[in-house]
Order: sequence, then structure tokens, then C-alpha cells
Amino acid sequence: MRALVVSDIHGNLHALEAVLKVARSCSGPGFDELWNLGDVVGYGARPNEVIDTLRSTPASRVIHVRGNHDRVCCGLSSSQGFNPVAAQAANWTRQHLRPENLDWLRALPMGPVPAGDGVLCVHGSPLHEDQYIASMRDAWIPLQRMPVDIAFFGHTHLQGAFSCRAEFWSEDPPAYVHGSGSQVQHFTLPLPVGARYLINPGGVGQPRDGDWRAAFAIYDQTERQVTFFRTPYDVQAAQAAIREARLPERLAARLTTGR
Ligand code: ZN
Repeated sequence: MRALVVSDIHGNLHALEAVLKVARSCSGPGFDELWNLGDVVGYGARPNEVIDTLRSTPASRVIHVRGNHDRVCCGLSSSQGFNPVAAQAANWTRQHLRPENLDWLRALPMGPVPAGDGVLCVHGSPLHEDQYIASMRDAWIPLQRMPVDIAFFGHTHLQGAFSCRAEFWSEDPPAYVHGSGSQVQHFTLPLPVGARYLINPGGVGQPRDGDWRAAFAIYDQTERQVTFFRTPYDVQAAQAAIREARLPERLAARLTTGR
């Protein structure tokens, strides 16, 4: 079984379409299941189209987890605590979502959502849906306390993994080959039994690790490994959509730098 794991799409249809195209064309069977770790909307200018695409993507099983932007954009939470740009984007998104897509967002489950076979899907952390895991310091307690050996998480828009085995721990960012920053790249991390892993597929629609390419991962349950991917997409088109919608300029500009 292979699961396509995506997170933090944030209304960026151009990035999501590139991800689906690459994921379907990977060597081997592509993917069987689709796991979405949340923040489908907010920031980007195509929230309805992103939800429609996710809902119509063929997969033998689909897992969704709600993100904090999903909650705010559908009115389940207030935008208190959001910075002004995020709050403005959430308001715009709420005004532009079709009623059935607002209902779909409101029905998304809070993580952790079990994916079976000792794996969890969460937005922030296995311990709290809004917790950020950006460093080993953040990852240490969730790694100890989570009830499974593998959890997929998002929220930080930073691709990579944290792992521990007994008292040994490591950070495992994907080691892509330098000099191919405008191509599709992938990096496979084996997940041996006996260790615990927190794995972030990265942000599809608004990466923040300095790489502008859309990020995602494929989890291969049978081979017990995860493959991280980066794919170029039509950034200019995503930026034009943001500017046309009169969303804050910062949301368009940051897509070029991946920061
Ligand atoms: Zn996010």
C-alpha cells in the first residue's frame, strides 16, 4: 500500500495539480490512498477548486485531518491569534467558499486520525492539533508519548522527519542533490522497525523551508519507507490568482522564495 501524504495546500490549486501529476506518474503503482493532514484552504486564491480536486481524486481510502486555517475559514474558530495577513486571507476565503465546501470543512475530523497499522495522521502534533513541531526539541515529547511508532504531521510547512530509537534521536531532512532546484527531486528514508518517527511531508501550497517547489511524500507501508518529493509548479499563475483576488501581496511574493 502506498499513500500520497499532503499537507498545507492552502488554496494553491496550481501546486496541488503538479503534486498529483507527479505522484500519479511515479515509478510503480503511484498511490493507493490519499492522506491530507490539513490546512486545505487559507492564503491561496483557489479554495473551492482545491477542495473539489481533493474530493474527486480517486483513491482506495482517503484520510482528512482538519488544520487551524480550515477551522477559521469555515467559522469553527475565530481568527484571534492569526497575524493580520492570515486573518485577512481567512475572511476572504470564508466569503468565497461555496456552501457545500464550508460544510465539508466543518465536518473534517480533528487529529489524531488513525491510519491503521501503527500510523497516525495529525495536523500539528499527536498531542495537540495546534502544536508546532519545528525542531527536535519540539519533537522529543510527542515521540515519547505518541501511542504508535509513526505519525505524519504538517502545520510548520517544513519537510523532513524526526526519529528516536531508545535514547538515540535524529533529524532527517531530505538530502536532495544540489543543483537540480528546478526539477522534480525525491529522497527515500527507510523506517526500520524499533524506531519512532514524526514525518512532515512539507507544505504543498506555501513551503517555508527556502525551497519554492511544492512538497509532498509517498509512504510505502509494504516497503516500510517514506519518499519525500519536491516538484516545480506554475508559481506565476498562483501568484497572479492571489493578486487578482486582491489578497495581500505578501502571500504572492513569498511563493517565489519559499519563506
Ligand atoms: Zn498551514
